[in-house]
Amino acid sequence: MNILVCAKQVPNTNEVKIDPVKGTLIRDGVESILNPDDANALEEALKLKDTYDDVNITVITMGPPQADDMLRECLAMGADEAILLSDRAFGGADTWATSNTISAAIEKIGNYHIIFAGRQAIDGDTAQVGPQIAEKLGIPQITYVQSFELSDDEIMVQRQLEDGYEVIMVKTPVLLTAVKELNKPRYMSVKGIYDAYSKQIPVWGLKDIQVDEAKIGLKSSPTKVFRSFTPPPKGKGMMLEGNLKEKVNSLMYELKLKHVI
Ligand SMILES: Cc1cc2nc3c(=O)[nH]c(=O)nc-3n(C[C@H](O)[C@H](O)[C@H](O)COP(=O)(O)OP(=O)(O)OC[C@H]3O[C@@H](n4cnc5c(N)ncnc54)[C@H](O)[C@@H]3O)c2cc1C
Repeated sequence: MNILVCAKQVPNTNEVKIDPVKGTLIRDGVESILNPDDANALEEALKLKDTYDDVNITVITMGPPQADDMLRECLAMGADEAILLSDRAFGGADTWATSNTISAAIEKIGNYHIIFAGRQAIDGDTAQVGPQIAEKLGIPQITYVQSFELSDDEIMVQRQLEDGYEVIMVKTPVLLTAVKELNKPRYMSVKGIYDAYSKQIPVWGLKDIQVDEAKIGLKSSPTKVFRSFTPPPKGKGMMLEGNLKEKVNSLMYELKLKHVI
């Protein structure tokens, strides 16, 4: 069984800084990590590899050359192969252009059974790339997967809802997006780290995949980040003194003063 995992290298912070001109992420000076949901996606693939003999896991990322570090982390966790999609032509992409590039690479790889992605990346936060890849490949997708079970040629998943979950059966090929409740990602093993640095990670550029240049990168991205900012901190709170009755009276007084009630 061939499993593909889409993983993104993200800044280790929720306060992403944006280039004011291009509206793209500024990565300099910020530590980068494997996107947390993608670690859950990889873990689920690794669990299948622990259980079955014939599982091959390939991790794919589109990103700058330094995304190689994150791919080696995935190899050290237990993935078999990794592919880095990196080319100036791919840079600054929105989700539509990103998924065009990634799905073109997946078409080149071919013969896949399950594609795991994360629910969302902690920098862009759109949760669009996984579903868009499935749409472009013309395969079914199940998002928000919180549990996964494979039996014969069918997969049964629980799809997380706000107030519960739904159970869905699906056949391969399929794309699933993982939420953090799916599992607890493993650490890299010492042998895994050693092996990861002896493996070659192919870098695919524009010339290596069949994709229309008018559908990738910054210039072809239909959405642009117009403005991005960190909300100003909330004003100082007020502590109410006294016993419960006094606190309620003070609260009523303050609310009336502000014409809330
Ligand atoms: C503040 C901010 C706002 C943005 N708003 C928008 C917007 O509204 N619309 C828009 O189109 N773009 C937006 N972008 C651009 C966005 O960062 C890029 O499109 C990005 O390449 C992918 O989107 P995402 O980070 O939201 O990923 P998500 O869609 O949240 O990622 C979901 C999953 O897809 C996979 N994935 C995502 N990117 C990659 C990758 N490069 N390589 C491999 N797998 C990947 C991972 O498995 C990931 O867990 C915004 C960026 C920022 C910083």
